[in-house]
Amino acid sequence: MSTNLIQAAYLLAAVLFILGLRGLSSPKTAVRGNQMAAAGMLIAIVATLLVQGVVSYGVIIAGIVVGGGIGAVAATRIEMTAMPQMVALLNGFGGAASALVAIAEFMNATGPLTGIVPIAIVISVLVGSVTLTGSFVAFAKLQELVGGAAVQYPLQGPVNAILGAITLGAAAMVVANTGNMTAFYVLIGLSLVIGVLLVIPIGGADMPVVISLLNSYSGIAACATGFVLDNSALVVSGSLVGASGIILTKIMCDAMNRSLANVLFGAFGSIEEVAGEGGAHGEIQGSVVSYTPTDAAVIFSNSRSVIVVPGYGMAVAQAQHAVRELADTLEENGIDVKFAVHPVAGRMPGHMNVLLAEADVPYDKLVEMDEINPEFPETDVALVLGANDVVNPSAREDKGSPIYGMPILNVDQAQHVFVIKRSMNPGFAGIQNPLFFKENTMMIFGDAKKVVIALAEAVRNY
Ligand code: NDP
Repeated sequence: MSTNLIQAAYLLAAVLFILGLRGLSSPKTAVRGNQMAAAGMLIAIVATLLVQGVVSYGVIIAGIVVGGGIGAVAATRIEMTAMPQMVALLNGFGGAASALVAIAEFMNATGPLTGIVPIAIVISVLVGSVTLTGSFVAFAKLQELVGGAAVQYPLQGPVNAILGAITLGAAAMVVANTGNMTAFYVLIGLSLVIGVLLVIPIGGADMPVVISLLNSYSGIAACATGFVLDNSALVVSGSLVGASGIILTKIMCDAMNRSLANVLFGAFGSIEEVAGEGGAHGEIQGSVVSYTPTDAAVIFSNSRSVIVVPGYGMAVAQAQHAVRELADTLEENGIDVKFAVHPVAGRMPGHMNVLLAEADVPYDKLVEMDEINPEFPETDVALVLGANDVVNPSAREDKGSPIYGMPILNVDQAQHVFVIKRSMNPGFAGIQNPLFFKENTMMIFGDAKKVVIALAEAVRNY
């Protein structure tokens, strides 16, 4: 296959990646977008395999069978609720793959590396390794293997700064002398350590920013590896992932009303203690009113407008189909129903949108935070379905709260608020929610799916 033909194939792949990304910008075209990007990747892989005699086809096929097999089993077995963890792991593996390829190129070089290659290698090793270990810490936090709170210790900032400086020094030494293996090993080791140190001080509600940033890092590492291999398809696809990850990070920062520097170096999510039951910082704040679905049906049936606010609990309970049926029932009774989607609700960007789309909730029923917030004071019922942090008024009112300043859905301004959750346990940020103790709030304790089914039944029988 001639070089021109290969480059033409890479160009076609790049165009398909861009069209694919464009398709992903709307739920209506997302499936098609995904298919286009996958077709682009197939073309890029086939073109690469036809030219590059890197290793034998036997080894490549063995890699595809083993890697693809593990991926296929993991993807089919994974629970929908574990998707965020899976995405975190995939980011990490992406970073690892880029770093490993760069390391192999460095080790296999027969003479001194010149031009942009040594620089690309150190970027790939540095960013890829940080992505690997950082993503594993993010995975552990999402899987609740470790606490979600920020980890802080004395002299954390100075220690990180010193390690960062040594790492950059080692990177510079490798670029200056590509035979300096000691500096190369220091670069790899410290990059892996820095990945851990960068993510552990970020806690609670700030995790969405980290996950999108790690996603971006995996793209940057792939792009650098593209320069190492002189592979334009990898450069283009890596840049697209890197750039879109940065845009997503910006969107997440805006959603939290915080700057990226503040997230990375501010230890925003740090909390003194994780509240079990009680107030904003652990104290009991008063009594809660508990309703049954049958009692709640009376208020729902007599309302004109309902705003549903889904959160992570809806994903855990897989209550999206049940809530769509409840919405249908309410609408049949002439009640206006909307869904308010907070940008960081759930555990991954777009989590609620994906679940509601899966349940065929019409997309025009989903309203974003800025647009829906002015509507709460005019709304009869706000139904908080397994959401917690994204409706916590402490973010608005309590300057001492770790989530102070994060924009929330102002459900407490509705006439009546129903909160469906199983207990008084806090949400991901580990802080109690004063909403539950407000006069207009009624708790319906139980699994979100079971409660919503019972509520729809009670409304039908009312
Ligand atoms: P939260 O994590 O704040 O709260 C979820 C609530 O759901 C809990 O209070 C829990 O209470 C309840 N719940 C869990 N299971 C069920 C169930 N089966 N039935 C009913 N209720 C249930 O969720 P939010 O969506 O409000 O906020 C998301 C949080 O996650 C934010 O802090 C965000 O920053 C963070 N985050 C978001 C990411 C993203 O990209 N979107 C990524 C990483 C973190 P109980 O146990 O009592 O039932």
